[in-house]
Amino acid sequence: MEFIRRSLIHCKRRTHSIGTNSWRCNYSVKKEKVPLAEGPFPRRVVTGLQPTGALHIGNYFGVLRRCVQLQDQGDDLMLFIADLHALTTYQDPSALQDNILDVAASALAAGVDPARSVLFVQSAVPRHAELCWLLACLASHARLAHLPQYKERAQNNKEVGVGLLLYPVLQAADVLLYRAARVPVGADQLQHLQLCAQLVKTFHHRYGRLFPVPQPLLPEDGCDRLRSLRDPSKKMSKSDPDPKSRILLTDSDEVITLKVRKAVTDCNPKVTFEPESRPGVANLVLLHCLACDLLPEEAVEEADGLTTAQYKAVVARALCARLGPMRARALELRAQPRLLRDVLRAGATRARARADVTLHDVHAALGLAPGSADRTLRAANE
Ligand code: AMP
Repeated sequence: MEFIRRSLIHCKRRTHSIGTNSWRCNYSVKKEKVPLAEGPFPRRVVTGLQPTGALHIGNYFGVLRRCVQLQDQGDDLMLFIADLHALTTYQDPSALQDNILDVAASALAAGVDPARSVLFVQSAVPRHAELCWLLACLASHARLAHLPQYKERAQNNKEVGVGLLLYPVLQAADVLLYRAARVPVGADQLQHLQLCAQLVKTFHHRYGRLFPVPQPLLPEDGCDRLRSLRDPSKKMSKSDPDPKSRILLTDSDEVITLKVRKAVTDCNPKVTFEPESRPGVANLVLLHCLACDLLPEEAVEEADGLTTAQYKAVVARALCARLGPMRARALELRAQPRLLRDVLRAGATRARARADVTLHDVHAALGLAPGSADRTLRAANE
């Protein structure tokens, strides 16, 4: 696609242009008790998506759309495809390669612009794993074993891999490697970010100040908690065995319409927004809001006089209109694997240079062998 080619050229020239934000979305920055480290840190956000299967609308509204909004507001966005995180469960190697390109195509189709943002594959920057080890040496086993996601998996499985225990430490490394001051997260990731803040505090106490304490960027529009269409008590998830529980970014209009029609609601036909007592209907309202940029009360007003069954048709139409053009762009991009690999390679080169600078400072602080970032590299990347 022409705009991606142009972006690649821009990216090589390292130009930065800032677009406008056309969507309504408010973020709240939760104040942590730990103070921000002093020092000039870039206005940078870092986040990742696992290449563990086709992306769903939760990934789009919860991550990609937010990333594009931040990019368009002038933040320095680093979006990585988290293949190292994906390895906490078995991944078929050739499917993993395909999934990486699928995520890259979806990210670009959603509006991530390689001229302004850095899109790359996590394993192409070995410093993620290196910093993970260094931070793991600061983390306590008890703290990691008490994190809810680990505890939940440990309860349901006889054998739990060490990778799962270290997963939040790798997340901390992902963020600290680029000295990101802000991290777009969902409410269920807050504890992991608090662990990251704790690791920064321990690092600063022992070795001196090197990192900003990352602040969570929590959305206020509910986009971080889209529910399963089949069981609204659960989050929409890639790993749900029921494919009707989620709408994929690759789903056709017919499939989207069918999945919305089959969405579980309740026996009250009126459309209201009551997430606690009527989670299934509230999920439909939320989807309508996200697709059409509405507030819940506006969506409920539009649904006045409709039954939930009739309202499902409205929601399905809104989703098809919102997702259709992006799906077409993603399919077009997915048919050009060389172009996608070029974008990812260029992104990895930029990410590696930034990561080298951080690790150079970390090595010096810890008394390790000198890092590889020289002055020229530093000047080029700060
Ligand atoms: P994953 O690739 O499964 O790690 O998910 C990547 C990101 O997508 C996570 O950080 C979540 O914030 C977001 N996400 C996943 N599922 C949902 C959902 N049901 N609703 C909103 N956001 C979601």
